[in-house]
Amino acid sequence: MDGASVIAEALKAQGVEYVFGIVGFPVIEVGMAVQAAGLQYIGMRNEQAAAYAAGAIGYLTGRPGVCLVVSGPGMLNTISGLANATINCWPMLVIGGANDKDQDSMGAFQEYPQVESARLCAKYTARPASVSQIPFFIEKAVRISMYGRPGAAYIDISGELVNQTVPEESIRIMPKVGPPPPMLGDPGLVEEAVRLLTSAKNPLIIIGKGAAYANAEGSVRELVTKYGFPFIPSPMGKGVVEDDHPQCVIAARSRALLQADVILLLGARLNWILHFGLPPRFNPTARFIQIDICPEELGNNIGTNRLLGVAGDILSVTNQMLEAFQSLNPNWTYPRNTPFWQSLKSKVSANQKASQELSVDESVPMSFYYALGQVQKMIPRDSIIVSEGSSTMDIGRTVLLNHSPRHRLDAGTFGTMGVGLGFSIAAALLARDRWPGKRVVCVEGDSAFGFSGMEVETICRYNLPILMVIANNNGIGMGIEAETWNDVEVKDRSVEIPVTGLMPDTRYEKIIEAFGGKGYFATTPTELEGALRESLTTYADKPVIINVAVNPQSTRKSQDFNWLTRTESKL
Ligand code: ADP
Ligand code: MG
Repeated sequence: MDGASVIAEALKAQGVEYVFGIVGFPVIEVGMAVQAAGLQYIGMRNEQAAAYAAGAIGYLTGRPGVCLVVSGPGMLNTISGLANATINCWPMLVIGGANDKDQDSMGAFQEYPQVESARLCAKYTARPASVSQIPFFIEKAVRISMYGRPGAAYIDISGELVNQTVPEESIRIMPKVGPPPPMLGDPGLVEEAVRLLTSAKNPLIIIGKGAAYANAEGSVRELVTKYGFPFIPSPMGKGVVEDDHPQCVIAARSRALLQADVILLLGARLNWILHFGLPPRFNPTARFIQIDICPEELGNNIGTNRLLGVAGDILSVTNQMLEAFQSLNPNWTYPRNTPFWQSLKSKVSANQKASQELSVDESVPMSFYYALGQVQKMIPRDSIIVSEGSSTMDIGRTVLLNHSPRHRLDAGTFGTMGVGLGFSIAAALLARDRWPGKRVVCVEGDSAFGFSGMEVETICRYNLPILMVIANNNGIGMGIEAETWNDVEVKDRSVEIPVTGLMPDTRYEKIIEAFGGKGYFATTPTELEGALRESLTTYADKPVIINVAVNPQSTRKSQDFNWLTRTESKL
């Protein structure tokens, strides 16, 4: 057997189904072997997008997606994908070709310290010394990426291994890594958690993407509904319990965080997204019940004196909590008439009314609220929504709703822009192979789209029926007006055009037309509605871009707090 076939067979034995990549020296044969082994090889246009796609497979399936790339620059282009997966706690595996070992340090073609480069952004990195060792390393990489807190792994394949042949008897293909072992929480702590929740005046559940990843939607939902707790999802925790559930208080997010006295954190870190769990966004005396697979995470930023930390997996621990409720306090529910509920409800309805008003304003050019509101109105209820951009993603969080777990993918913990098309490709492959009829809707800002716009060719090549909506406001965050761009007084755009500006009224939909997909340019509500309707009917099985002209002045409605919590200066 040659090295390329050993790699392919080892990946196949690990249950890998999708390999995203760009081939070239020395991994072309690996790509061919992958196909020969019956795995799907998805040729991408940039290694970065390939790595993002592999990460999304990891999040959506619980097993690593694989990314196959060439040495040097090819491998380095996957670094942001490795980091994105590790920081989001998603399994994924990059296989990078490398220079022949006997040319190390000689200035070999595309030579680079690849293993060292991957080390900071992966849980596990290795360089097998021989062909017969490859299956051992692939099994280990897959297992480490999935077990404990998930993350990325990197395997370096020196070029000479690819074509080297070894006797088949010398190869031991390792068996498929089983699902991560269940990790129960300490029963005493689980009971204490239930007591703390039932004695709270203002309890709140925060549902993070760890709960989605853990497939804990059944038990989390039961905990929320049976005992009547208000809850908010994190950006990718949306859909574990549906966004339009009556106990969802996301529209009163700031108030809920501030007034809660006992907070149950289900797979969400107290990082920037949750304002570090600290004042001014949280009550300084609030107690936290934090459930996480990673014990080192428990108490991060808040300390451990106000913490009831339970190390365990969310599926197991939430089931234990349901049992503890049953035995300690079966008939308890959080009353619906407390001052906390009243305060939350009044804020929810005021904020919903404000957003509602914004989303019916039909003025031209359209606002983000209107454009995204139309998308929400017309897409199927259980679509997978991929969303990135600044205003597009922020406003999309309130306007675009999820009703099923693992149906939202966005810039995530690392705030990575440029993930949208790679994520959509991964989701569309899974939809095609596992969830027939499922729509993938990719809502991009114009800037975010630009990072990996050439993946539109990939999407068309495999005929993946992704509906891409580009909320085009001529720039990053706040866009520029056509008048500014065309101003005759402007002599040198590189000095005089705002740094956030992109070319106005760019016809991004022409890109998809070049590859045989369907494109629309929508400048009015009528055009947008028509484009959405046709995309979801006549062109439902084709890739589509709807390029929506959005008012460059349109921004998010004013918020009580700035989106990014800064640490106050001690000086
Ligand atoms: P969000 O962005 O939604 O707030 P984070 O990525 O910050 O979510 O947090 C997810 C957390 O979930 C991580 O700390 C991770 O360790 C944890 N996690 C991942 N899988 C599991 C699991 N099966 N059980 C418990 N915790 C998990
Ligand atoms: Mg923009």
